[in-house]
Amino acid sequence: MISDGILWRVGNGASINIWNDPWLPGRENNRIPVNEIKPPWSTVIQLMNEVDSTWNRELIHNLVDDDTANRILAIPISESRLEDMLVWKFDGSGEYTVRSGYRVLITDYLQSNLHMSSTNEEYKIFYMDRWALHIPEKIKIHVWRLFNNMVPHYENLARRMLCGEAVCPLCKEDFETTEHLLGSCRVLRTIWTSLQVQIPPLDASLDYKDKFVKAYIEAEGRQKRFIALSLWCLWFHRNKLIHEGTKFSMPHLLGFIRGYERDLGLVRENLCASTAFMRNEVWRPPDYGFVKINFDASFIPGNNFALIAILARNHKGEVIEAVTYLVEDVDDTFVAEARACEKALILTRLKGFRRLIVEGDSLTVIKKLTKNEEDRSIIRPIVHNIQRLRQGFDEVSYQFVNRSLNAAAHTLAVEGRHRKVCGAWVDGLPETVRLVVEEDWLQWCQRI
Ligand SMILES: [Zn+2]
Repeated sequence: MISDGILWRVGNGASINIWNDPWLPGRENNRIPVNEIKPPWSTVIQLMNEVDSTWNRELIHNLVDDDTANRILAIPISESRLEDMLVWKFDGSGEYTVRSGYRVLITDYLQSNLHMSSTNEEYKIFYMDRWALHIPEKIKIHVWRLFNNMVPHYENLARRMLCGEAVCPLCKEDFETTEHLLGSCRVLRTIWTSLQVQIPPLDASLDYKDKFVKAYIEAEGRQKRFIALSLWCLWFHRNKLIHEGTKFSMPHLLGFIRGYERDLGLVRENLCASTAFMRNEVWRPPDYGFVKINFDASFIPGNNFALIAILARNHKGEVIEAVTYLVEDVDDTFVAEARACEKALILTRLKGFRRLIVEGDSLTVIKKLTKNEEDRSIIRPIVHNIQRLRQGFDEVSYQFVNRSLNAAAHTLAVEGRHRKVCGAWVDGLPETVRLVVEEDWLQWCQRI
């Protein structure tokens, strides 16, 4: 699975073979579909114009079909000439994360297995519901692996002749099988009783998987978390016992599960509180001497272009620049947003602004700009360029805001798209944008 998930992120293109390597972004068909390899061209760097580091549009259209050409042209490249990089393609950030791995597993599983089961709907609810459950990914994955008989318990090891043991090391009453670890182990049953997890009476003719799914679906939210947590904790302590000889203690285990569940609840409450706080926020003018930029992109899927808007305001909330641009060869929202931010810096530098607060509603883009980590995503060349542009200013800071606080830039992007206006709005702002700008100022003045 891991090798299927590998993708080249294009930097200078020198390390990537045009015909053999997976380098087209997306979840599938990452290799160029070709019947014949066209010999003089072998590496991706040959598809770029050397002078300005753009794609050689004509050459690309000559070598591949139109769809593929559009996919290539939509890959951002920049003058920075970064190294090519191998990334994990199922995750937008390019990092292999447990979450994206899990998502791939689930999708594959649903596609390949569900049609065989008579309890389709219940299984689907089970998978999707656990997906929404507020527990760490590693725990979800453990439950998923256990459920699908992929955990290396004694029975699975014995089947591969890797182990002679067979009896559950916790209860010592029965063979350690998936069925045992998923519900019939006495230790697990004791845990569930202590946590008041209710297992409904179930038809004895059902197999253990069906039983588990039914019991799970009928449990309420907190009990579901207890079920998942206890399966994971039990396995964790079982391994501690076997590999490190750590004595198993029921009160300790119960305390651990309860504490863990409580912490998860607290994290969730804090998240809700901060979202609520954001909702009451108002747009905020910059301090005197600073300019605040709001940027946004209005992206039209299927057309490969986006309209981006940049709105600059001073400390009195007055609009000092309003510009829209059409960006071609974009098939990704993040790319469009990153391009908008890049344009904002280019524009304001030309205008001679020295101190900026740059505000956008794309969390991904803002995060990449504020974190000092190596970026592996598709917008890496653009982020790199933005960081380079930053050197032309005295001060630049980036802020993420939710969409309602970015409404002025958003409205400008939509107006630009409808009226097909690109460039500075010299004849004045559209009425819709002016109203949002006034509303922003009014709310700032009326804030508590
Ligand atoms: Zn047992």
